[in-house]
Order: sequence, then C-alpha cells, then structure tokens
Amino acid sequence: MILPHFTHHTPGTVQDCIKILTEAEYKPQILAGGSDLLVRMKLGLTTPGELVSLSNMDELQEISCDPKRGLTIGAGVTLARLVSDPLVNEKCPVIARAADLVATKQVRNIATLGGNILQNTRCRYYNRSAEWGKAVAPCYKRGGELCHVIAGKRCFAVYQGDLAPVLIALQATVRLLSKEKDIEVDLESLYSKDGAAPFNDLKGRLLEQITIPAPSLTCRSDYKKYRLREGIDFPLAGVAVTLKEKHGFVEDLRVCLTGVASRPVLLTFNGETAVGKPLNQNLIKEVGQMVYAAARPLPNLEGEPSRRRAMTRILTEDILTSFM
Ligand SMILES: Cc1cc2nc3c(=O)[nH]c(=O)nc-3n(C[C@H](O)[C@H](O)[C@H](O)COP(=O)(O)OP(=O)(O)OC[C@H]3O[C@@H](n4cnc5c(N)ncnc54)[C@H](O)[C@@H]3O)c2cc1C
Repeated sequence: MILPHFTHHTPGTVQDCIKILTEAEYKPQILAGGSDLLVRMKLGLTTPGELVSLSNMDELQEISCDPKRGLTIGAGVTLARLVSDPLVNEKCPVIARAADLVATKQVRNIATLGGNILQNTRCRYYNRSAEWGKAVAPCYKRGGELCHVIAGKRCFAVYQGDLAPVLIALQATVRLLSKEKDIEVDLESLYSKDGAAPFNDLKGRLLEQITIPAPSLTCRSDYKKYRLREGIDFPLAGVAVTLKEKHGFVEDLRVCLTGVASRPVLLTFNGETAVGKPLNQNLIKEVGQMVYAAARPLPNLEGEPSRRRAMTRILTEDILTSFM
C-alpha cells in the first residue's frame, strides 16, 4: 500500500498550525502519530492534500495538575508517556492503565492522546483496500446510500477508542482552538452518533488539551476491554467505570462503553438506581443488567455481537466487584 501525495507542514506553534488549517487549499488534516490517519490514507479511505504535523509543537506536550482545575494533558502526549508519567500515575492511574491496553508498544510510542480520542470509526465493510471497495456498492461511509450491515438510514461503523470512555466517565473536558474562537467543551459532546461523520464540529479545529476535573480525581475508576488477541487488538467491547462514594454509599456512578456503537455510550446512575445505596452484589447485578440493555453491538466487527454484548455486563460487574 502506497501513500498518496500530500504537502507536509510542520508548524512550531498552535497559532501557525491554525493559520495553516484555515488557509490551506487542499483538504488539510492534522497529523499526530499517524497510526490511524496514515493507515486510512494508505487504504484510500481519506485523501487529504495537506497534512499539518503536530510533531514540532511543544505546547501540546505538557502535563500539569492544578488543585482547583484538575489534571490537564496536552493532546500531543504519546500513549507510551501516559503509561509511565509519574503525575498521571499518581493523580489518575486509570488513564495510564487504559493507555497501556492500546495496540502494541511500537504503536504507543508514536500514538498520541489527541489522535486516540479522535480516531475514526471502523467497520469490517469499510476498513478495506480501494480494490475491495470497488467490488461492492459503496456504503454510507464510502459516500453511498446503503449499509452492508443493517437496513438502516445511517452508517453504523463502530467507535473503538480505548481512552475516550475512560475520560468521558471522568467527565473530562477538551479545549479546541480555531481561528474564530477557542472553546472548552465536554469531551462527550464531540461525538455524533453517525459512524460516517463521527465528530461534531471539528473542522479547522485543533484539540489542544484534555482536562480531568479535580473532583473526578478523587473517584475510583477502572477500565477493562474484551479483544481477540491480548497483545494488540482494538476493543470489541470496552467498559470504563467511575464511582464516587460517601460514608460507604454511592454518590455518583458512571459507566461508559466503547466498541459497541458509533460513539462512546455513557450511562449515568445518579438517580434512584444507585445513589444512596451501598455497593453490594444486588446493586452490581442491577447495574450490569442496565449496561447489557444499553449495549447493542452489530455484526460489523470481528467477534459475535451476542458475546460482545455479554462482555459489557461481565466487565462492568468485574470492575464494580473489585471496588467492594
Ligand atoms: C495495529 C494497530 C492497533 C491499534 N490498536 C488500537 C487499540 O487497541 N485501541 C485504540 O484505541 N486504538 C488502536 N489503534 C488506533 C490508533 O493507533 C490509536 O487510536 C492512536 O492513539 C491514534 O493516535 P495518533 O496520534 O496516531 O493519531 P493520528 O492517526 O495522527 O490521528 C487520528 C485522527 O485524529 C486527528 N487528530 C489527531 N490529533 C489531533 C488534534 N490534536 N487536534 C485535532 N485533530 C487531531 C487526525 O487528523 C486524525 O483524523 C491501533 C492502530 C493500529 C495501527
């Protein structure tokens, strides 16, 4: 597979980066580690004429913690650095654990947090070569009018990022920079439910940093994923859980799933189901059942959908049991 031609920009500051993104003529796209984007380009799934590399932008490499604001991580920090960074491991170890579950060491050495969050959706009928694509009618994600998986009116390609569910369960916010104005929004709001266009309003925007708010840093949190090969694979179902307790009773409980829909699926148990109750086997079973009901994987990845669905309950119950 050969990469198509493109112009390569290497701005040294975020201002220069945004200027290039705004002024470039030939479908500019941000290049971080390239472990998602370059593979898609080689398959002919995307054809940006200009790539704007983040590799020279030190501003995106910072990790800091402020007692009021929380833990802030630059979008350009690699997953390998997240795994070993002392501040991340001290303040929010679940991020290091989840990063360690992504792909392989080689990929983690180049892959960034920003690229992980903003990786594209995937489907067994889409992540194929251009030749394969010519042999079948184009699906929604290839610009056509059908889905090969289900008779639906939209694309059902799956979001399989490992870090987003963890960060969404922790109520993380993201800072987006653009020519018009800089904004800070909930990470969850970035995701659309359309697998063909998985992100809301990202055009011309640079993801600068991710912040885990200070109150979330005192929660208990964990992430587990189900995959075919332990050594490398994307999640076929992934579960992140964040729990806050007060005097032995649940104050806030959030579960976020990946690998089962076109976006991360957040479930908040801040009503009668969980709040004010002790974390016991009855509650764990009830939460596991609600997670199972919310997960609706389709046969568009490897692995049986029924197995992937069952794993969402099993992993949720495993994590909650470990919190008892
Ligand atoms: C063999 C293999 C196994 C993999 N396994 C996993 C896995 O288990 N779990 C998992 O989650 N992922 C997996 N991946 C996918 C991918 O490698 C990771 O998600 C990685 O973190 C992507 O980061 P990157 O920096 O390489 O992103 P890139 O490929 O550079 O970018 C991905 C997308 O994000 C955009 N982008 C990147 N940074 C920014 C920014 N700061 N602002 C705005 N837009 C931005 C790019 O324009 C692009 O559209 C795997 C990939 C491979 C090749």
